Parts: sequence; C-alpha cells; structure tokens
Amino acid sequence: MGKKKFIFVTGGVLSGVGKGITAASIGAVLQAKGVKVSVQKCDPYLNVDAGLLNPKEHGECFVTKDGAETDLDLGHYERFLDQELTRKNTTLSGRLLRDLIADERAGKFGGQTVQLVPHLTDAIKRAIHEAAEGEIHIVEIGGTVGDFEGLSFIEAIREFSQEVGRENCLFVHVVYVPFLETSQEYKTKPAQNALADLRGFGIMPDVVGVRTEGKARPPKSVGEKIAISSGVRRGGIIMMPNVDTVYEVPLTVHRDLGPLLSEFSGSRVEPDLKQWRRLAERDKAEYSREVTIGLVAKYTDNADTYLSVTEALKSAAWARKSEVTIYWINAEEATDENFAAVDGILVPGGFGERGVEGKVAAADYCLRQNKPYLGICLGLQTAVIAAARRGGIKRANSEEFGAEPGKNVIYLMNGQEGKQSTGGTMRLGDYEAELAKGSLAAELYGKTEVVERHRHRYEVNERYLGEMKRGGLVVSGASPDGSLVEFVESPDSDFFIATQAHPEFKSRPFRPHPLFLGLIDAALKAK
Ligand code: GLN
Repeated sequence: MGKKKFIFVTGGVLSGVGKGITAASIGAVLQAKGVKVSVQKCDPYLNVDAGLLNPKEHGECFVTKDGAETDLDLGHYERFLDQELTRKNTTLSGRLLRDLIADERAGKFGGQTVQLVPHLTDAIKRAIHEAAEGEIHIVEIGGTVGDFEGLSFIEAIREFSQEVGRENCLFVHVVYVPFLETSQEYKTKPAQNALADLRGFGIMPDVVGVRTEGKARPPKSVGEKIAISSGVRRGGIIMMPNVDTVYEVPLTVHRDLGPLLSEFSGSRVEPDLKQWRRLAERDKAEYSREVTIGLVAKYTDNADTYLSVTEALKSAAWARKSEVTIYWINAEEATDENFAAVDGILVPGGFGERGVEGKVAAADYCLRQNKPYLGICLGLQTAVIAAARRGGIKRANSEEFGAEPGKNVIYLMNGQEGKQSTGGTMRLGDYEAELAKGSLAAELYGKTEVVERHRHRYEVNERYLGEMKRGGLVVSGASPDGSLVEFVESPDSDFFIATQAHPEFKSRPFRPHPLFLGLIDAALKAK
C-alpha cells in the first residue's frame, strides 16, 4: 500500500446505536484482507479519562495494558482486531484541554490567544497522527454530529482530510432509522437531517450505516432513499438491522461494503471470515449444551457494565460448543436459592459497599457447596473475606467497607491513603504474577508466569493468610517479589479460583481466556 489512509466513523440521530461495533467490524474485514489496521476512539466529553464515569450510565471502564481507563469501545476494538491497545488509542477532550491549559500557563504560546480552533483542533490532529500506526487508521468520534462538545472534533477531521488528501479518507456516518408501527414504515427523515448536519460541517460521507430495529433487513428503497439524499454511491450503504451477536457485523460489512473496501484499501484479497461465520451462524444442534452462570452484580439493569465479562463467558461457552445463559443475581438481594439455581457463579469487579454482603455470601455458598466460583478483583476480595470469616475472624471485611482494626483482611495499599475518590491513582494496567506449581491456576493457564491487567486500590492483607487458609483458601499466585496476592483458590473445591486482576480484558472471541474456560468446563461438569 502506498500512502496511509484514514477512516472516520461518526454518528447521527442518536448515540449508542453501534458506531463502535461498526468501526471495529470494518477494521476486522480490512485486517482479514491483509491490511494493517490501527484504531482510535475520540471522546468529546470533558473528562480526562473514563475512570470516574458512572458505569451504570457509560458501561464498563475498559483498561488497557498501559493502564489507561477507557471507554468500552476499546474493548470491542481489542476483541475484534485481537490487538492490545494503549493510551494513544483513546483521545478525550478533557485530557487535550488539560494539556493545552498547562502549556498556556507555562507560557508556551508566546502571547497568542489560545482557542478551540486552531489550538484544540491541532491537538486532535496531532493525536490522530500519533495513533495512526496502521496502513489504514480508523477513528471513531463519540457522540453525534452536532453535539456542542464534538464540534472541534468534526472540524479537526475535516481539516485533517484536507491535509492528508480527501482521497485518502473514508467518512462513515452511522444513522438510525426508526420504524413506525402505526403506518408500518421506515422513516428516513431523521437520518436525512443528520446527513444534512454533517454536510453543514463540510463533510460529504462516503458510507452510511443504516441501523434499524428488528432482525429483518429493511426494503431496498430505504437504502436508496438515503443514498440519494446523502449523495453516497449505492455501494456505500450498509444495512444494519439488529443482530443476535455483534460478531455478525463483520459479515454484514463485508456483504454490503466489500467492493468499496477493496477499492479504498487497494487490497483485492477475499477476506477469510470463516471464524466470524462460525460464531455468527452457530448451529443450534451442535451448540446444544446449555450452562447457566450466575453473575452476582450491583448493576443488573445495564449489561454493558460488565461487557467484557459477559463476552468472555460467551466466547468460553462457544469454544465448548455450548450456550451460556447469564443469570443476573442482584447482589443486594442474593439468596442461597439464587446460588443453587445456577451451574456456576462469577463475582465481577466493583467499587463501593452496596451489594458486597451478597457477594461475600456467594463466595461462602460456593466454598460450602463445592459450587464453581470465579472471582474477579472485588470477587477475589469477597472470597477472601468469606474465607477469613469462616476461619474465625467473624467481622472480617475490607477497609473499603469500613473494616475495624484487626479485621481488615483487605486493606489499602501503602501510598493510596486519602486518594479513594481521585482519578488515575489505582494500580492500573499490566502486572506480572507467578503461579504456584501444581495449583489450579497454573493448570488452567498451562504456565506459571502470567501477565494480567489490573484496576484496584485495595490488596489482600497477608497478616491474615492463616485464617484465610483455615477458611478454605490458599494463595496460588503472587507478584514476582511475593508482596502482593494475585490469585487465591480452594484446594478442597473442584473449581474455586479468584484473581485480583481483570482477565476478561484479555479474552478474545476466538481465544477465550483460560479462567473463563475453566469456569465453563466446571459448570458444565457440575450440571
Ligand atoms: N474496589 C476494589 C478495589 O479498589 C476492587 C476493584 C475492582 O473490582 N476493580 O480494590
């Protein structure tokens, strides 16, 4: 390939209809055509990172290997492209503005008036160049075109396309087309308005993604109408009805956009999408084994809050030719009956006291009843609390939840005091762990040195390992210097393991994570 090329993905009408999946799917198809792809998410809101955003509203906070706390779209990118991303792949207004203001205070502008255009737009363009490592670099702009906050980003990508050559850029606009039940018709007006908005900023799209409700593809006329009103060629419309699994979208992208992507990338290679097809068209007869996993969670009304965890569970189940049903157990109301009703239990990460007793009860139940248990981060801490209580420390707890002195089996790391509500002060990103030979952890991973991503402030207090052991749990993995507990497990159970890390971030659709495979295997066996 000659010059570097860029794909910009924007949205219109409303947000949350799948720009991220569209961007990731385009990337996956290009990658399958042998093109080297890189990706970047630009978020116009004024937060410096996604670490302090409410997961209930924003969904999961995805953590990169270098410890950036990012938007969940980065998770889609990692899963669809099987790449490990870094801080560079996520750009937020808040961070750029903070740096600009710091430069202004440091006198770096030599008396200039510092403005959104050109100073913020220049910073955005620089951030895009810095992240553009692939032959084709895909940039998704969060929110919808026309949002106040996003204006600088839209201006920046327009200028960018002029600078690198418009022919080297592909603008993809994802719009939503509602279906009116009363008149039984698709209404393209909001999409037309959204396309007019984009043109108003000087951007003529090359591709329009048309999101619709229902599984059926809308009639051709809908696409034709949008093509005419937006000025895009016919081969530039992707019809995107709802799908059973997001892993179908690369197939849709290839079907609707195949020739256009060949032309733009210069790669005529027919992409090998076999693996995607296998996931998308899972034959029910073949995937007939069913398994239920209870997710003991605080936010049970927004599945996006635990997105990487649920994707990791599905991938692991599919690898075992089975289907997983996720049974949401509200941590605040959890009972033994809930725990008994499922084949295995997963306690995911979390912050704050609400629902913690339910998670401790889940771990205690699994220890007592030999029920498969996988604990992630807070799920390790609740397991340790449960074991310590069984081992004799009646009111054992975490300092996060007000443990009394002498009962703080989970405690605050040195140097973290007073930072409980500040951003970017946790143990974040990749850390190594050494697994005990002969442990379940080592058996599952098939090795004794592992690297996993972290995002937490509290640690296991090694003073209480004795009580923990009496309660049924031993340490099976620690930091290389031995000072931090990374894995615990129950030698008396068939499958009870927990990690201080977040293995879900490294699970891939075609390469499920060993801990999740272990849970699914154990749950299938326990049925
Ligand atoms: N709240 C716990 C801590 O900060 C666990 C965090 C998590 O589960 N990600 O240590």
